[in-house]
Amino acid sequence: MPRKPEYTGISIKTELAQDVEAFIKEHSTKYRSLTHFIEDSAIERLKDLRTQLNELPRFDRINGDDTGVLIYDRELKDNKAVHVSVRPQGVICDFHQRGNCEHIKYALKLPDVQEMIKKRRKEGWKIEVSEDEIS
Ligand SMILES: [Zn+2]
Repeated sequence: MPRKPEYTGISIKTELAQDVEAFIKEHSTKYRSLTHFIEDSAIERLKDLRTQLNELPRFDRINGDDTGVLIYDRELKDNKAVHVSVRPQGVICDFHQRGNCEHIKYALKLPDVQEMIKKRRKEGWKIEVSEDEIS
């Protein structure tokens, strides 16, 4: 036997409730009641947000400066901004304090980081990066 659903009461402004009820009354929609309308709206909104979240990439480039690039990492719990530095000794993730993590992989694909590495090498920096990571 299916479990009987449980309900919770939420408050919305009377004006909005009346607006919705009047709309339902005046138009032929699938909605039977204010509750039906609100429930359906919440379900649709949740679906939209979940889709949006799933479609967002893990990394985004926030900005760059002459020391490197700032990357947004959606999988990190707290401080989601990670700086990747282009230094004379190599490309280093300031978060992981090393040169071989997902942030480095992402940073090395960014055109501005690739340009920066090329420029620094011309200036004499011996930046060690495995060549297949830079196109
Ligand atoms: Zn990292």
